[in-house]
Amino acid sequence: MTETETMSGKDVADELLLDYASGALPEPVSVLVATRLALRPELRAECAAFEAIGGHLLEEIEPVSLKRSAFDAVMAEIAADEDDGTADRAAGPVDAETGALVPEPLRSYLGGPISGLAWRTRGPGLEEFRIPSPDARFEMSLLRIGPGRTVPSHRHDGDELTLVLDGAFSDVNGRYGRGDLAVNGSDDLHAPAADPKDGCICFAVTGGPLKFSNPLIGLYDRLTRR
Ligand code: ZN
Repeated sequence: MTETETMSGKDVADELLLDYASGALPEPVSVLVATRLALRPELRAECAAFEAIGGHLLEEIEPVSLKRSAFDAVMAEIAADEDDGTADRAAGPVDAETGALVPEPLRSYLGGPISGLAWRTRGPGLEEFRIPSPDARFEMSLLRIGPGRTVPSHRHDGDELTLVLDGAFSDVNGRYGRGDLAVNGSDDLHAPAADPKDGCICFAVTGGPLKFSNPLIGLYDRLTRR
């Protein structure tokens, strides 16, 4: 990908919030965005702002406006995820580590405490737990990278969204801490390096390619690009 053809990770993260607000995301991606909103509550305001802009644009474009606040819908969905997910999916009580590191809705998808998951070694200092995905187009994984370890340079089939749950990692685009989202397109070669002291636990969703279905995105882009 070239800089002129592709969006930055920040742009994609913003678009994910917008698409999340519109309910257009596939479930694994929606889980990732909702989990990020739980880790970074201040982004809920950004999400609401997107919705307000989107709703305003819709009113101008179409007589049929969004009467119900999509932000309310987002909040309701998060609340529902927290309630329903815990009741339907969680296996047993949550231990302190899992409770501290993994917010809902992701926690309910794990099926148990972090320490008891079927971690598989994928390389030196790199472990993966493959989360059962509700959508065959996307893989969901927890990745645990040891302190100072670097994942060998690699590409993915489709796009990869990586949300930091604990610790931090760095790549060519910068440093990502808890609640930060790294976005890599299918052509991007990357080699994330975990924090030398804390290592990193991430939630990764891989697949797609992600297509942003919200027709407002292009218009929003044009209005907000500087
Ligand atoms: Zn990767």
